[in-house]
Amino acid sequence: MISPHTQEYDLLYDTHAHLTDSAYAATLPRLLEDARLAGLVAINVIGFDAATSRQACRLADSHPGFLYATVGIQPNSAAAAAADDWDSIVKLATDPTVRGIGETGLDRYWDDTPWEVQQDYFERHIVLARRHDLPLVIHMRECGQEIVSQLTPHAAGGPIRGVMHSFTGDWSLCKQCLDLGLMISFAGMVTFKKSGDLREVAAKVPLESLLVETDSPYLSPEPLRGRRPNEPARVSHTAAVIAASRGMSPAEFGEATTANAKRLFGVD
Ligand SMILES: [Zn+2]
Repeated sequence: MISPHTQEYDLLYDTHAHLTDSAYAATLPRLLEDARLAGLVAINVIGFDAATSRQACRLADSHPGFLYATVGIQPNSAAAAAADDWDSIVKLATDPTVRGIGETGLDRYWDDTPWEVQQDYFERHIVLARRHDLPLVIHMRECGQEIVSQLTPHAAGGPIRGVMHSFTGDWSLCKQCLDLGLMISFAGMVTFKKSGDLREVAAKVPLESLLVETDSPYLSPEPLRGRRPNEPARVSHTAAVIAASRGMSPAEFGEATTANAKRLFGVD
């Protein structure tokens, strides 16, 4: 049985969920109710191209105070973007539902988008986020140093507001991201049996820079691994694992990470 941790959490914030996915077409009202029962007070709905960014805004608009949108073109979607898709993102950036720019970043694992195109789009997102003083939502896969290299010149203008989403790197990379001013968000992978190293990284991140997410519909946390699609309520399992690795109670951990998310994304 999938039981939300109704007793353990007063506050939780899923900072990264793709609720525009067709997997939720019939289940969204139930999913949002389960999320509230699990203690979630907010969910960020993440766009990965122009269409899903528009949908994220619409979804957030119909659930004010609970769903918030981020808009952007994910590196793997950049090659398929039409010429005016970027203009759409620029316009959406001022939508009142929008609390972040992304997801953006770089990806060496998939080969969907030529590297120079990925870097070009990442740069556009960095500049757009800075222009509107919005946090960046950064995707990184097998290219940590390239991400740090591209962000570093921008840190000359002050700490970079943003989050490394679904972080899976080592402590050295984590430290470099923290030094740039970024927060670090962990998803279900940190709960997997073989992820001992990642749990150690999660235990070392300063509490005020820590976030949690589901990255729904992907990678459900233990003990629900393999159950698709993942859902925001399941962030409770990820939070419990990191809390335990830090010697904190789930309630304390939920409270601290929710306060971080509200601060970063400007949510009251
Ligand atoms: Zn994502």
